[in-house]
Amino acid sequence: MSAKVKIARRVAGFGTTIFSDINVSAQRHHAVNLGQGAPDFDGPPEVLGAAVTAVNSQLNQYAPGLGMQAVREAIARHAERFYGQKIDPTCQVVVTSGATEAVFAAILGLTDPGDEVIVFQPVYDTYVPNMVMAGVRPRYVTLRGEAWIFDPEELARAFTPRTRAIIVNTPHNPTGKVYSREELGIIAELCVKYDAVAITDEVYEHILYDGVPHTRLATLPGMSERTLTISSLGKTFTVTGWKVGWAIGAESLVNAVNQAHQFITFAVASPLQAAAVTALGLPNAFFANLQATYQGKRDLMLDILRGAGFRAFKPQGSYFIMADWRGIAPGHVKDDVQFARWLIENVGVACIPPSFFYQDSDKHLGKYFTRFAVCKKDETLAAAAERLSRLGKA
Ligand code: PMP
Ligand code: GLN
Repeated sequence: MSAKVKIARRVAGFGTTIFSDINVSAQRHHAVNLGQGAPDFDGPPEVLGAAVTAVNSQLNQYAPGLGMQAVREAIARHAERFYGQKIDPTCQVVVTSGATEAVFAAILGLTDPGDEVIVFQPVYDTYVPNMVMAGVRPRYVTLRGEAWIFDPEELARAFTPRTRAIIVNTPHNPTGKVYSREELGIIAELCVKYDAVAITDEVYEHILYDGVPHTRLATLPGMSERTLTISSLGKTFTVTGWKVGWAIGAESLVNAVNQAHQFITFAVASPLQAAAVTALGLPNAFFANLQATYQGKRDLMLDILRGAGFRAFKPQGSYFIMADWRGIAPGHVKDDVQFARWLIENVGVACIPPSFFYQDSDKHLGKYFTRFAVCKKDETLAAAAERLSRLGKA
């Protein structure tokens, strides 16, 4: 007889992540998978080679909890090169198991049960479950319209005496929005006024289009001492499976993250973090080339989607394009979840239904959208194009 397992209340409501659901369904129907933001090509050979060399150089035991010194130095140099930030690698950096762990450890290390944390919706899917596990209450501010703008008054109303932090993801998943300096200025002023911490998720910091600049909230006046900046190797170096991330900022903030990190994962895979030294030290030309490559993919995908009849929004950054599907789906398709299922089963292309990025009472806001990932080989995008081109001709 199998044991009667009683699942804990803190996780019982979570269900399965939409990324896993769509992957399983895409596989079953042999769909071209433009769902999960996982590239189907490899990163720079010198970065991959650095990991192999590390494995063969006896770098296979635990790294220090904060991360290898050389890696922390490389992260600090990267922050200075691209943002002019001066970070002390000995106490202002912690290496984590991806940005995902950094965000969770930040929430655990910086909030108490009953506190509030502000997020913008659509919201990346791990933040709110992280808060639920920490006993923290999410406060939602909605990004609206084609430019995914927030209302400064709605944001101001979301701040209360219980607000401990706000999470800002820029460039933003799933919309591709890059927060402007002015928008970040509004956020900064409120953080200062309410003595709140900003946790920024900048994993797409180098995936930018049309010359749009990425502004780091930590570099705005009054923000360096209250911003924890999180990023990772995954997107920039096309190694999403490595799960090497970091959090940088004031010593007190990094210390709070590390208090949790030391008892979650303690330390990060040594050979993979060792390769971060090579990755983060790549010349500026690498980063420029990355942007040019992704811009080509974004433009190709925008053409494909618009050609197929989607109203596709032009992203300023990230791996993703949001598109309104109403022009192409048959009448029986009523929402984004049905649309994603219909597209996989009838057209053979997988995408992500964005209602999962909204709180329950606002799911309708994602109803007519779908999210496509552009981080795929041009052949993969061409295969999707071929399938989508049959739309409306059946
Ligand atoms: N934050 C955002 C906004 C993401 O889109 C992702 C997904 N890849 C992550 C964090 C996860 O990053 P990592 O793989 O470094 O944990
Ligand atoms: N960040 C990836 C995306 O948005 C998914 C990562 C995951 O599967 N949790 O597609």
